[in-house]
Amino acid sequence: MGSLNFEKSKTVGFARGIGLLLGAALAALFAAGCGGSGESGEAGAVEGTIQATTTTTHITDMVETIGGEEVETTALMGPGVDPHLYEASQGDISALQEADVIFYNGLFLEGQLNDTLIQIGQQTPTVQVTSEIPEDDLLPSEDYEGQADPHVWFAPELWLTGVGPVVEQLSELKPDAAEDFERRGEEYRAEAMEAHEYVCDEVETIPEEDRILVTSHDAFRYFGGAYGFEVRGLQGISTDAEAGAGDVSELADFLVEEEIPAIFPESSVSPRSLEAVEAAAEDRGLDLAVGDELFADAMGEPGTEEGTYAGMLRANADTIVAGLGG
Ligand SMILES: [Zn+2]
Repeated sequence: MGSLNFEKSKTVGFARGIGLLLGAALAALFAAGCGGSGESGEAGAVEGTIQATTTTTHITDMVETIGGEEVETTALMGPGVDPHLYEASQGDISALQEADVIFYNGLFLEGQLNDTLIQIGQQTPTVQVTSEIPEDDLLPSEDYEGQADPHVWFAPELWLTGVGPVVEQLSELKPDAAEDFERRGEEYRAEAMEAHEYVCDEVETIPEEDRILVTSHDAFRYFGGAYGFEVRGLQGISTDAEAGAGDVSELADFLVEEEIPAIFPESSVSPRSLEAVEAAAEDRGLDLAVGDELFADAMGEPGTEEGTYAGMLRANADTIVAGLGG
């Protein structure tokens, strides 16, 4: 455990440094974006289809939905990919360099891509889709001092603040299609809010005292806030530190104490460590089920319900209700 703590504190210092760097780079980026004295007099308007490069599945879905056929998207991360640990390949670097525009989550979700995004962002319009969330609405990271929890897509009202910047940036690149982007943005918003209502209704069926959600890592704190759940993750805000034996037994004790019927693996995190929790809880005499997979840091396959933002919200609600006996 000693070495784990050392690793963590080292990461905090490193991450803070990058935070400052990122702030400076973004300030430079915005300054450059407002001058109007860039190489292109057309404020970056593109001919033909907009080439967008996106990071996570949540962002890819938002950009594809709003962009329609005006936008061709290259997604760096597919279903089942953990953004905290994701490192850019040479092909990814090219996809970022060749893009007309880049969309990413930020808040250190894409921890290993920060430097690359900062660097390429100096030449290419780069949009952090979480940038419009009021600071007071962000939950502080429990693991990294001075940072926010990046899993904001689980509070639809916060996530939907990203629609504006996406519509705005695409409209700048293709002014002719601005109305279409605006309309599709509204549709995306409406579908998401409909799914949000569905989740509200579904979780109502779980007795209040049973609304305790235990998952692979701390991705569901915004979900907990939005839908009235207590949440526990085996791993922290990021998946970069493996859970130790102490974490497993502490969580198992909690499960026994609260008589929790089910815990939930996540599609982008190895189920191995949760299996250890299950075994530890059963050793303590708890009859514990491992529920179906939740979509946390990655959504489902493209072309499926769970591959869309609204569908992912509904699928998770169904899984949680099935597991917790709603
Ligand atoms: Zn996460």
